[in-house]
Amino acid sequence: MEHVETIVVGAGVAGLTTARLLVEAGRDVVVLEARDRVGGRVSTDRRFSLTTDMGASWIHGVDGSPVAAAAAAFGMPMVEFTVGGYQPDSRPIAYYGPDGARLTDAAAQAFAADIHVVDATLRDVVAGSGPQASYRDVTETALAAQGWDEDRIQRVREYLEHRSEEQYGAWIEDLAAHGLDDDSIDGDEVVFPDGYDRLPRRLAEGLDVRLTHIVSEVQWAEGGVTVTTDHGIFHGADAVITVPVGVLHSEDLVIAPPLPEPVAGALSRLRMNAFEKVFLRFPSKFWDDDVYAIRQQGPESRWWHSWYDLTALHGTPTLLTFAAGPAAIETRDWSEDEIVDSILVQLRRLYGDAVPRPTHVHVTDWQDDPWSQGSYAYMAVGSTTADHDTLASPIGGVLHLAGEATWTEDPATVAAAMFSGHRAAQNVLGSQIPIDHAWLI
Ligand SMILES: Cc1cc2nc3c(=O)[nH]c(=O)nc-3n(C[C@H](O)[C@H](O)[C@H](O)COP(=O)(O)OP(=O)(O)OC[C@H]3O[C@@H](n4cnc5c(N)ncnc54)[C@H](O)[C@@H]3O)c2cc1C
Repeated sequence: MEHVETIVVGAGVAGLTTARLLVEAGRDVVVLEARDRVGGRVSTDRRFSLTTDMGASWIHGVDGSPVAAAAAAFGMPMVEFTVGGYQPDSRPIAYYGPDGARLTDAAAQAFAADIHVVDATLRDVVAGSGPQASYRDVTETALAAQGWDEDRIQRVREYLEHRSEEQYGAWIEDLAAHGLDDDSIDGDEVVFPDGYDRLPRRLAEGLDVRLTHIVSEVQWAEGGVTVTTDHGIFHGADAVITVPVGVLHSEDLVIAPPLPEPVAGALSRLRMNAFEKVFLRFPSKFWDDDVYAIRQQGPESRWWHSWYDLTALHGTPTLLTFAAGPAAIETRDWSEDEIVDSILVQLRRLYGDAVPRPTHVHVTDWQDDPWSQGSYAYMAVGSTTADHDTLASPIGGVLHLAGEATWTEDPATVAAAMFSGHRAAQNVLGSQIPIDHAWLI
């Protein structure tokens, strides 16, 4: 058995942030990671000489973001791309109506204005909603309050369904009414042309990270924590577990004794989502210049409705779309060709039969990834926003949970992973430590 002061389970951004801060504070730390790489859900594919972020792509608002500060300190190039957050009009978007024809600028502006009107009503409806209300319930109340005709309401209803799916990978009836409360963007959004994985790789430098160490059991007691892996047993005075909610829900990693209340209850109300990315590289560009995204409305938009133009990143004509919620679940076992065919049907409706087949395709499969079991956590009906922070309540003075799902203010992000890792380090130390020590050392 190996003895260390603190064991960190998981070398994603949360675990690496915790470990760096603890090492900076003078502690002896080991990080145990099941994969053969660091970064977890920050993962960059470099096949075919193409840089493709299979997990996180964006910083959803650089103002006050520790990710932006760390990326700047690490010299990571960033490109502005402010269309995350499923915003209707933050940057130019080419909207197509249910008939497949492009909306005029005036019609697109009127549609975006409708969304803003409903959102203003929605804020109050969500604030007054009960714990068992779904996002569908509150959006229907907000739509009904407008007194519009059915067509006009249906366009915004579709938009709200897509927002639930694209933001949280969840069908609108499964997401809690408060499930999008965190949905605000401070400052520009950016992406990383050289790959997001440079962030975790830099965070990991100098740390004792043991790759391909699969943790199967974490036993905690007053005297410390014993962690069993397929490469031996580790004992620490304390441990920080940063594995995703999907792994915590599974039987692959046993915590003994089981997580106590209030942590167990909070965990039971969060769910891992279904959210996959599809990158399509084309031989030539067939869509308009100067738009950040393409969106279509109407019944044909049920699955494939939004395409993001990533051409500016590398000069290769590239569209990114998402299979999110029901589309991700239903296409889970589809071949890459089947997915491409299905997407091309929609693109050809909008741009004609001349739309070529893509030369390169990347499709993610986070649902079948044993070390995440989905892309990120969402609030199921019945959960409260506080459930996120509750997950991080210290357990028995020796065990701590961290990771994106444990941060109420902005869960499901890399920033949340960093902030939660910082909080866990402070809880272990019992004292404050500046978060920038994670990248300034
Ligand atoms: C498709 C997709 C798109 C996203 N888009 C964005 C975005 O644009 N912007 C954004 O901010 N965020 C985005 N996110 C979310 C972001 O990637 C995550 O919130 C963040 O990376 C989570 O970091 P973490 O450290 O909490 O968890 P993880 O990165 O999952 O780290 C946990 C680590 O634990 C390891 N592990 C699991 N089980 C075991 C075990 N039994 N033993 C040992 N180790 C184990 C895992 O391998 C992993 O490395 C996206 C995620 C996905 C999947």
